Amino acid sequence: MDPLTINITGLKCDNPNCDYRRDDIPFEAYEGYINAPCPKCGESLLTQADYDECLRMKSAARKVSAIVEATKWVKPSHYWNMLFGKS
Ligand SMILES: [Zn+2]
Repeated sequence: MDPLTINITGLKCDNPNCDYRRDDIPFEAYEGYINAPCPKCGESLLTQADYDECLRMKSAARKVSAIVEATKWVKPSHYWNMLFGKS
C-alpha cells in the first residue's frame, strides 16, 4: 500500500467517556455527519473543525503524492549526466 495515501474512514464519539464508534463510514459521507449527535451520549460525532482538519490532511497528502510522483523518475545518475555529460 502507498504509505502516502491517507485513508480516513469511520467516526468516533468526541466524548472521552463514550466508546461509540463506527468504522463503516467513508470519508465521502462525513459531511452528512457534521454536528450529528452520538446515539449513545448525544455528544457531537464530528465537528466542523474536525471535518476541516480531515480535508486539510487529505489535500496535504495529495500534494505530497504529486511531488513524489513527479520526481519518481529522477535518478541520481540523471544529475550526474547533467553535470558532467554522458560518457
Ligand atoms: Zn458518545
